Amino acid sequence: MATDIGSLQLPLSTRLLIDGEEGPATGGEEFYRENPADNRQVATAAAKGSAEDARAAIDAARRAFDSNTQNWIYNYKLREQVLYQTAQLIREHAPRLAEVVSLEVGMPIRQAIPHVAAAADIFEFYAGLAGKLYGESFTLPTGSMINLVKEPIGVIGMITPWNFPLTQTARKVAPALAVGCTLVIKPASYTPAATYELVKLMHQTALPNGVVNLVSGPGTVVGAEIVTSRKVDKISFTGESGTGKDIAVQAARDIKRISLELGGKAPYVVFDDADMEGASRAAVFGMFRNAGQACGATTRLLVQESVHDEFLAKVVHLSQNIKVGNPADESTDMGPLISASQEQVVQEYIKFGLDAGYDMVTGGHKLQGGLYDNGYYLEPTIFDGVDNSSRLAQEEIFGPVVVVTTFKDEEEAIHLANDVEFGLVAGVWSADYPRAMRVARRIQAGTVWIWDNYAQPVEGIWGGYKQSGIGRELGYYGLDDFQEVKQIFTDGTGLTMKPAYSQVISE
Ligand code: NAP
Repeated sequence: MATDIGSLQLPLSTRLLIDGEEGPATGGEEFYRENPADNRQVATAAAKGSAEDARAAIDAARRAFDSNTQNWIYNYKLREQVLYQTAQLIREHAPRLAEVVSLEVGMPIRQAIPHVAAAADIFEFYAGLAGKLYGESFTLPTGSMINLVKEPIGVIGMITPWNFPLTQTARKVAPALAVGCTLVIKPASYTPAATYELVKLMHQTALPNGVVNLVSGPGTVVGAEIVTSRKVDKISFTGESGTGKDIAVQAARDIKRISLELGGKAPYVVFDDADMEGASRAAVFGMFRNAGQACGATTRLLVQESVHDEFLAKVVHLSQNIKVGNPADESTDMGPLISASQEQVVQEYIKFGLDAGYDMVTGGHKLQGGLYDNGYYLEPTIFDGVDNSSRLAQEEIFGPVVVVTTFKDEEEAIHLANDVEFGLVAGVWSADYPRAMRVARRIQAGTVWIWDNYAQPVEGIWGGYKQSGIGRELGYYGLDDFQEVKQIFTDGTGLTMKPAYSQVISE
């Protein structure tokens, strides 16, 4: 049944984009994404790509790269233009994109708006780098020269998650295009429209056909075809650590390059001299933004014993003021979870915490009545006194559930922070800057925030230690993920009989 939500007419509709052409999946199959805020509505009717569609998209990307279509690999001005135009188009269409993201993810519109702006910033940043991809050269004492040139890896298979669909896609697409790769994108099945609308905008730029291809459809079909195809040179994946491990095993068979952005279990270390107002606000922001469905979500509050009561009281107070509701409503602070199955997973963790006897100091319930009855709305939930070895403290829950653990001193704080298999992000709060810096250096994580709990500037980096991933996105490092380095050696001696040849040639 057709409905309206905000300015959107539902259901949204998506198609495949292969070799510059838009079309249905082979056989015309579709799949349906429900509105997580009101599951009586179909948010999106999406083209359900097949393995055959994935192969067609891979072939198109392969042809575009191998033929160096429109001089794509060397014409940095064209690549720059495509990236700038994409940034501009995202900004022009920002209100609609934010509504689409909010609808499919259940992300509060107040969070979806800056999310869209961040995606535009990423395209703009890499547009500025496309023309600055210098190599290196070195002259040897013989006069011979080593040139180290960076080259695009080739065809990149990009497999993306649903939780921040535009920025997660932009972090891969923009640097890969800046260096001259060609792409096949497989978006998460919960968010087909968000990615489709972005790629459709890209097709309004000077983008040559075949450079960016989009195939929605099941990960186990479309994603698996991309991962195992010998025509794909690299997989850039963001998603769960379990899926990432499977992809790594598959890719290893062909020594295919991979970069993986995986799960997290972020510690947040609060020392006794911390600014309690700043630390508690930043914590709650990190805990419940996007209903805790963020790889970098704050999930473990590690609090020095002497300030435990004061800090927890502030955090609980702020958490209880969070307005859970319709993501389209500007006053909503936290929306629903992504799906019924994710809601069930989170509820099982809550039950586990209660059965284990941990102190649930706030939340823990499914919200009921009115709108709540047709979506996946849980209360912001905090368990106190949780042992760091517990499943609650070790496993990625991906929902609004946070644990509190106390520590005595700096050594114990560092030990607890590192005593998990993940290593994506962490936060440190202390008024003693040398101590905060010492601790930040020793925490095993790709990003450690001091006096902050969010900043992800495009000029910086993003990526994980340990089982949180391989590779780095954003900034200059984001380019490296899509480049090979080649040595070109030019003889400068002019000798036809070089000293080394005498090892084989006797004259
Ligand atoms: P997911 O279930 O692993 O799915 C990610 C993507 O992989 C989806 O497009 C999915 O397709 C596809 N996929 C599933 N099985 C596949 C297979 N066998 N072969 C190839 N592709 C396959 O993860 P998610 O639930 O979308 O995202 C949440 C996870 O992402 C969390 O663990 C979160 O921490 C992590 N994440 C990490 C970062 C980071 O930067 N480190 C950022 C955001 C999210 P379908 O949707 O069709 O199943």
